[in-house]
Amino acid sequence: MSRCQSIFRLVLNQHLNTFGPKSRGMSLELTHPCPACGPETEFYRAASTNIHLGEKTKWYCTECDYGFVKINGIDSSAV
Ligand SMILES: [Zn+2]
Repeated sequence: MSRCQSIFRLVLNQHLNTFGPKSRGMSLELTHPCPACGPETEFYRAASTNIHLGEKTKWYCTECDYGFVKINGIDSSAV
């Protein structure tokens, strides 16, 4: 398999994890402090990936490009 194809499959799997039958129906929006926009800012969920530690979700601020990652619901933006 070429490098290009493997990257394509990786992206496809991430989409399946986000929108496919494995999706846990979690909320797609979250209120979270943003360092640029203030303490009560809306974030949207950009991606959800199942990893060995559990479920990893990526969130992005709706106002700016700030983003953070949660693993099993635990905020890991400090990492
Ligand atoms: Zn922001």
